[in-house]
Amino acid sequence: MKYVSTRDGSVEVSSSYGIIKGISEEGGLFIPKVLPNNIDVESLVGKTYKEIALDVLSKFLSDFSIDDLKECVDRAYDNKFHVHDLVSLKKANNSFFLELFHGPTIAFKDMALCMLPQLMNVARKNIGFNRDVVILTATSGDTGKAALEGFANVDNTKIIVFYPKNGVSKIQESQMITQEGENTYVVGIDGNFDDAQSNVKEMFTSKEMKDHLNSLGYEFSSANSINIGRLIPQVVYYVYSYVKLLEKKEIDMGEEINVVVPTGNFGNILAAYYAKHMGIKIDKLICASNENNVLADFLKVGIYDKRREFIKTISPSMDILISSNLERLLYEIVDRDPSKVRKYMNDLKKKGVYELNENEKNKLQSFYGAWVSEEETLDTVKKVYERFNYVIDTHTAVGYRAYEKYLKDTDDNKKTIIASTASPFKFTKSVMAGLGEVVEGKDDFQLLKELSEKYGMDIPKAVKGLDKRKILHDRLCHKDHMKDMVKEILA
Ligand SMILES: *Cc1c(COP(=O)(O)O)cnc(C)c1O
Repeated sequence: MKYVSTRDGSVEVSSSYGIIKGISEEGGLFIPKVLPNNIDVESLVGKTYKEIALDVLSKFLSDFSIDDLKECVDRAYDNKFHVHDLVSLKKANNSFFLELFHGPTIAFKDMALCMLPQLMNVARKNIGFNRDVVILTATSGDTGKAALEGFANVDNTKIIVFYPKNGVSKIQESQMITQEGENTYVVGIDGNFDDAQSNVKEMFTSKEMKDHLNSLGYEFSSANSINIGRLIPQVVYYVYSYVKLLEKKEIDMGEEINVVVPTGNFGNILAAYYAKHMGIKIDKLICASNENNVLADFLKVGIYDKRREFIKTISPSMDILISSNLERLLYEIVDRDPSKVRKYMNDLKKKGVYELNENEKNKLQSFYGAWVSEEETLDTVKKVYERFNYVIDTHTAVGYRAYEKYLKDTDDNKKTIIASTASPFKFTKSVMAGLGEVVEGKDDFQLLKELSEKYGMDIPKAVKGLDKRKILHDRLCHKDHMKDMVKEILA
């Protein structure tokens, strides 16, 4: 299967090339020329996560041999995951929390970022690529650590992560700056995630940077969800969940479900959209935002308007105003016309806003957008605990509250999967505050212990003893000097 660019109709590349490059030269995102629509759910009943992953990946990555893919799956999904069959489903009335945080960094991004280095490795071989790769990544907190973990000590690869110095949780920061591996670099910037992401994207498409890197024998690639090698592994867990609900007899074959995804860059929910396209019976895709509610507004009125204040919230991994992967949905909405995508993306860059026409707006109907305030988020952590004796993190709480809003709005009682994107141990301070505990004057590490002791949960290995680990990274830079920082690191 070939991949095309959302912004240039003349681009057509293999999936291997797309994974190595990360983003198309003119700034467009790679997308399958034809979205796979041939999942055979019946044949997947009784299969393991890894078997289902192999089936889904092979439909998107047709230039990978099955043997190579099998090896990728085996290497990515080994004993780094701390739960039987990688993910788990927790029933809560008519809904199911899909726990995606049992990987090495306790956020859902592990599901894909354990896989991406494996896919890159095979992709190199497939296209005879022999330069070293520099993975350049902007993070709102979770991608950075998951990518560092995935790419640490991988041959022929360096990884540079930029994070907003004052925009991530204490635990997220500690996880990143204690990262081991000779090939890892972590840089705090004095800007927000959108600054980091925009500047990284600009470096990808800068001729000057490209020439500079090539002269040193390097090529950039991306571990953000703009990379198809990151996006495709995320389709798997939606397919898997449907199959498991069937096995548990929670649903019948062919029964429709809904999916709720706490969203930032629109990657995780786009993966659910692709699962729906493949033939998984998903009716509504419920997109949950925090107070950075640009997506909720877009899905309601068809106007994407980023001209609003950037708000730092207690669900920091969703603090985003420029949602990269929405471009891939947009491409479908404008009937795959790259010139229209280009126009909208230009408007967004120049004016900060674009508006769909009526016909295009009508194509958003499988999505429902809702946003959740800070107060509602904290309240939801508490309510879910009281009702289900179950502690959720703040991102998942945004998802659950959006689901409640949807229920109120529609009375649609289909079985619903709620993507549970992080362990409560990753956002301990906010979670403990939500639970009504005293957090003032206590640091995150003390609160880890309290959360564990009072609520009877083991501290995950990923954050155990984190405060005692040696700090290995202390680079800082101005948001306008990220290019120079990259040059300095590679010199
Ligand atoms: C990254 C992240 C999100 C948002 O995912 P997107 O794919 O960017 O929409 C939500 N929750 C957590 C915990 C995350 O790390």
